[in-house]
Amino acid sequence: MPKSPQKHLDPRQPLVVDTTKLPRRPGATRALKRVVPAPADLGLELISVPEGSDLELDMSLTSVSEGVYVSGNVRGSLSGECGRCLNEISESFDVSVAELFAYEDSTTEETTDEDEVGRMQGDLIDLEPAVRDAVVLTLPTNPVCRPDCPGLCPECGVHLDDLPAGHGHEDVDPRWAALRTLSAEQPTAASPHHQQNRIEE
Ligand SMILES: [Zn+2]
Ligand SMILES: [Zn+2]
Repeated sequence: MPKSPQKHLDPRQPLVVDTTKLPRRPGATRALKRVVPAPADLGLELISVPEGSDLELDMSLTSVSEGVYVSGNVRGSLSGECGRCLNEISESFDVSVAELFAYEDSTTEETTDEDEVGRMQGDLIDLEPAVRDAVVLTLPTNPVCRPDCPGLCPECGVHLDDLPAGHGHEDVDPRWAALRTLSAEQPTAASPHHQQNRIEE
């Protein structure tokens, strides 16, 4: 019985790597260079890698005694929204990935946890979890369009970049001033004490 709790890997998946051509001799290496479409949901709520955009893998596979060590870089593009001004953010990323994948039935597989060391399925390696972790870890939780983005005027919502220096508003918005006058003339039931006081005066 094959002990393979994971779903079976499909070598046609863009982030599944077939190591058939990598000799299982410690020290043997092979370059892994390919451009693949980014999987869905690669990123965070405010910033992510657009699904289907190019992910460039520039890595190498190295045979070690218990498996295959995969290391190198992943590059691609990000798109998101500035947390201060809501402007679109589009930039590139370049992250490094380094992970060991243990051969099936190797001592490493038997003595480690799947969370610590990746697993191979036959000659196949699924790079997606490692790529996902590497990309997501580098993303800012509060992305900004630029480090000194001043954001929006809290009063009128216009980008402070588009407003003259010293832009400000009167202490009281005219609409609020009108409301204030109105409530002074007609005290609401919600403030009986004020009403009381006014009558006594
Ligand atoms: Zn911004
Ligand atoms: Zn304003």
